[in-house]
Amino acid sequence: MTIEWSPSTASHAARTDVGVVRDHNEDRFLARPPLFMVADGLGGQAAGEIAAELLVDTLQRLPAEPTATELIAAIESANRAIRDAAAAGEALRGMSTTCVAILMLDVAAEVVHVGDSRAYRLRAGRLERLTEDHSVVAELVRGGIIDASEAETDDRRHILTQALGSANRIAISASTIDVQAGDRFLLCSDGLSGQVDDRDIEAVMRGDGDPGVAADELVRRSNAAGGHDNVTVIVVDAQMSIAPRVRDQRSVHRPIRGQRTSVAVALLAAFLLAAVVGLALGNGWFSTSRTAAPGASVQPAASPTAAPTGSSIFPATSGSPGQVPGASGGDVGGAAGSAEP
Ligand code: MG
Repeated sequence: MTIEWSPSTASHAARTDVGVVRDHNEDRFLARPPLFMVADGLGGQAAGEIAAELLVDTLQRLPAEPTATELIAAIESANRAIRDAAAAGEALRGMSTTCVAILMLDVAAEVVHVGDSRAYRLRAGRLERLTEDHSVVAELVRGGIIDASEAETDDRRHILTQALGSANRIAISASTIDVQAGDRFLLCSDGLSGQVDDRDIEAVMRGDGDPGVAADELVRRSNAAGGHDNVTVIVVDAQMSIAPRVRDQRSVHRPIRGQRTSVAVALLAAFLLAAVVGLALGNGWFSTSRTAAPGASVQPAASPTAAPTGSSIFPATSGSPGQVPGASGGDVGGAAGSAEP
């Protein structure tokens, strides 16, 4: 028996804050279980937040339980929408946005990102980063040119190599990860990861409180560290569902259709058997198959009066339920012969 599990009933909390220095917030988020997403808008004036809102709007049109393929297609669609909007207005030219999303699939999750917004997973008290920044300094670290500590203060750390709206074709990073009951996930803009180091994030994520307690504390620490950027966090606790769910009504009806088919086949077989038997009686097949001698008349066996006296023709009257009609050889012939008037 295959049990299909319903989507995770993960509890979650999302927070966004303008920070201490900036006068408006270009971060946006979407928290619509099983899909969660953080976008960090980039661009002058209000352009960044428009790019981020275009992304949110596009993802909101997804089905309630999208597939990973649908999610990635929607992100590509948002890229085109941002490009089109930027081309239509001078004030919007050059706008772009990051994107980090997690689609909870119960025993697995799909993590998708573009840019330097991040996803983390806390498991058994240890924080693990699930995304690699699409940024210049991240490339330099991966290339061994600078180390991670140097990257934290490098002037190029805010320069991205990928962002939605930056090009007609973008490289979307996607990976499928396993999910265990008790896992806690974090999505965040660089307003958190650029100001609070991973060890402090881990300490907050390990807290016993609900996701809202952790989310509030993460924002507080970001602002306490200077609040130089907008900060957005989503904390998601994975809680495995316990109720099996029938995903497809067809799977409910399939056995019933199968039963109906079996009954129909049985009725058809019975009808055909009866027809064959009837035809055999009509033609005296059984009586002629083995015993009819050349020139012998079989017509008497087929006469209406032959049946009662030709009792050995049919198993039902032969006293042997397992007997195959006609298998008794000469006996059948004898019966047929005895049926002659
Ligand atoms: Mg930012």
